[in-house]
Amino acid sequence: MKAAIHAIRGMNDILPDEAERWEWLEEILRAWLRSYGYRNIRTPILENTGLFLRAIGEATDIVEKEMYSFEDALNGERLSLRPEATASTVRAAIEHNLTYSGPQRLYYLGPMYRHERPQKGRYRQFHQIGAEALGFSGPDIDAEQLLMCESLWNKLNLNGLKLHLNSLGSSQERLIYRKALVGYFEAHISDLDEDSRRRLNLNPLRILDSKNPDMQNLIAEVPQLFDYMGEESLKHFDGVRSVLNDAGVSYQVNPRLVRGLDYYNLTVFEWVTDRLGAQGTVCGGGRYDGLFEQIGGKSIPAFGWAMGIERLLALLESQQIDIKRNVPDIYLVNKGEGAVRYAFRISEILRAHGISVIQHCGGGSFKSQMKKADSSGAPLAVIVGDEEIATGIVTVKALRENKEQFKISVDGLSNVISEYLRRDPISISEGGHS
Ligand code: ATP
Ligand code: MG
Repeated sequence: MKAAIHAIRGMNDILPDEAERWEWLEEILRAWLRSYGYRNIRTPILENTGLFLRAIGEATDIVEKEMYSFEDALNGERLSLRPEATASTVRAAIEHNLTYSGPQRLYYLGPMYRHERPQKGRYRQFHQIGAEALGFSGPDIDAEQLLMCESLWNKLNLNGLKLHLNSLGSSQERLIYRKALVGYFEAHISDLDEDSRRRLNLNPLRILDSKNPDMQNLIAEVPQLFDYMGEESLKHFDGVRSVLNDAGVSYQVNPRLVRGLDYYNLTVFEWVTDRLGAQGTVCGGGRYDGLFEQIGGKSIPAFGWAMGIERLLALLESQQIDIKRNVPDIYLVNKGEGAVRYAFRISEILRAHGISVIQHCGGGSFKSQMKKADSSGAPLAVIVGDEEIATGIVTVKALRENKEQFKISVDGLSNVISEYLRRDPISISEGGHS
């Protein structure tokens, strides 16, 4: 016997019970984004590796060690599975001149790929939903996206998410700051761990993000980027903060927040929870005014974030937030050869009225069909037998509360069932919670 084949490590099958949670959440997320005017964009999962090298930066964790890159065996092109979707969105915007007629609010949802050590909340195929506002330069859009997130946490009844906010200044300011930072670390070179020494000349800001406890004293004393920022950058940051203050959104300014990608400037942020262990960042983003040019387009200012769906679901689960489960409205029991055929017609009539129907397939006794009806979760069974066909009258049986049973003509069936589902206080299909 051949060995069984398994899914790739860190890449998960999402089975129906779990997928139901995903669909529930995705629908909420899409409606929420639409309510702010964000429109969907879908880009390919594969891109030229060069896109990510340029956009994300060579001295980042993603590019250094997390990308799935390979050569296309047919034409030798260097390709990568996308590790994130901002670069792809910007590439597509440039390629199709999307911002030609004005700014664009876009969102995406889909799988991303990073070769990391799999653990809870960290996978090799994971999913992000993300928003990108292209062509906006003011702090108002930064604030809009932060307020949006806050509104989502409220909508989902999530608590315990904290906003960490920082500004990385302009690229020129950061360049000067970078020199000061390198000078500081060079003066303390013996206190740097191996990782930080490697980063010192490649990406010194990332040292601020070090989790190594031995480095914390050193990092606490670093020069502050805020001291290197000009009036314009400070004003932008104040602009964001004043909207947050007006809206009563609490946040913490965290000067050590630098984010793992190179393309950010000015506002950066993360929403963090302490309920998911080490994988506590649920959403991260910021401003990336230089990215369009970096990828080869005209200069266009932009702001965006990405949220990890797996982490969001884990957080919902940790707070035992129930989802609306999908149960059919009707389980259609059919007994007898003629009844099977008649049942197809009735099912379609019901579905045309917005009623969901599982039509029993596979024959079997009336009793066994009723058992299946019961375990389907449907509030009602419709029963069709040869006798019912002859009279044009079917039997409806309540499966949950009082188990009442009545006969009704097929003509009036959809109306009566619609009525029944509306008045049933525990009818899950009408928006109740399981
Ligand atoms: P982390 O510090 O946890 O590695 P990150 O800074 O690399 O996160 P981003 O690139 O900012 O993450 O991606 C945005 C969000 O996508 C994260 O906040 C997280 O919710 C999610 N995410 C990132 N990498 C993974 C992964 N490997 N598995 C699951 N979710 C992930
Ligand atoms: Mg990471």
